[in-house]
Amino acid sequence: MLLPKGVVALLRPWFFDALARRNGSWLFFVSGIDMQIFNALMARAIPFIPRAIIQKISRRYIAGATLGEALARVQQLNEQGFCVTIDVLGETVSTPQQAENTAIDYIDLLEAIQANGLKANISIKPSSLGLLLDMQQCTRLAERILEAAEGHQNSVCIDMEDVNCTQKEIDLFRQLRIGHDNVGLALQAYLKRTYQDIEALTRETNTFRICKGIYVEERSHLVNGSWSDRTAINTHFLNHVMRCFNTGSFVGVATHDAALIEQVIALARDNGIDSTQFEFQMLLGVCEPLRDKVLKMGFSVRIYVPFGMDWYGYSTRRLNENPSIAGHVAKALIGL
Ligand SMILES: Cc1cc2nc3c(=O)[nH]c(=O)nc-3n(C[C@H](O)[C@H](O)[C@H](O)COP(=O)(O)OP(=O)(O)OC[C@H]3O[C@@H](n4cnc5c(N)ncnc54)[C@H](O)[C@@H]3O)c2cc1C
Repeated sequence: MLLPKGVVALLRPWFFDALARRNGSWLFFVSGIDMQIFNALMARAIPFIPRAIIQKISRRYIAGATLGEALARVQQLNEQGFCVTIDVLGETVSTPQQAENTAIDYIDLLEAIQANGLKANISIKPSSLGLLLDMQQCTRLAERILEAAEGHQNSVCIDMEDVNCTQKEIDLFRQLRIGHDNVGLALQAYLKRTYQDIEALTRETNTFRICKGIYVEERSHLVNGSWSDRTAINTHFLNHVMRCFNTGSFVGVATHDAALIEQVIALARDNGIDSTQFEFQMLLGVCEPLRDKVLKMGFSVRIYVPFGMDWYGYSTRRLNENPSIAGHVAKALIGL
């Protein structure tokens, strides 16, 4: 397959970086079987992959385009023993009306969850409620969603987005917490600042989701080594989980890293933490054997289920993280 010149130029530094990380071994070059490098190259090429292919591959990560499809998927997961968090896909809005529409979608969703007797709460991306457009409107809309959630005995988690949003999302959370106790916040272990944030936020009992973090950020924001090695985040992740345990906050442990999950289980056991003080959380379509195993071990597992028309940004982030992306793209290209 011949790639356009621009794509080759973009991939070249990654190729040599990946090669250097293999200690300069040229063996893979001869055998052509170094899938790790091929996958890294493919992840870099995502912006150039046709949207139709991305949509096809990412069906595994998304419950569908409509509320009906999402509810059917949630029902199945509930029957298998999983709780769910539902996310209406969509990120930064550019008009107040779009923000208003997002809020209406969430309010309808809360009603549908109760009407169908589902075990699911919701997660919101504040940028989709106009966080970067009009903070006051965003807060007003988030409050309306929280009130609707209260009316349905439900709760809301605030997703954490990129560093342009971090402080604003923490401020939003604090503001919302004044009048509501059915709101939680996601925190990212790859950010250095999370140590100060979590210390301040755990002065009161709260509900948190601890995740590694997914956005591409400048190194100055990140804990050492995390830009090239995702396991470099693990010690920090564990420290934040421990902080939640020590301060009595409920913690959603959002990861598919099997070693990290084992370490959290050990941490809870060694510190006498009751299993009602935490749950594991995983994304729809990711590491399903692991999620089944954790559920079978008797832990509570919540699946994050996104749905909606605005699938592109979410899907490309998931594909980027998928260690077998090259195989998925190849299969989609040949129509499997
Ligand atoms: C419930 C939930 C909510 C989240 N909310 C946020 C949020 O609010 N803000 C935010 O920045 N991030 C969020 N994330 C994303 C998170 O930060 C990570 O990017 C993502 O979970 C991958 O990191 P990991 O912890 O699984 O560890 P990694 O070390 O990245 O991955 C561990 C292993 O999991 C497997 N894996 C991971 N992703 C995939 C994939 N897409 N396809 C196939 N295999 C995969 C791979 O085998 C990998 O080796 C959330 C994740 C979850 C599970």
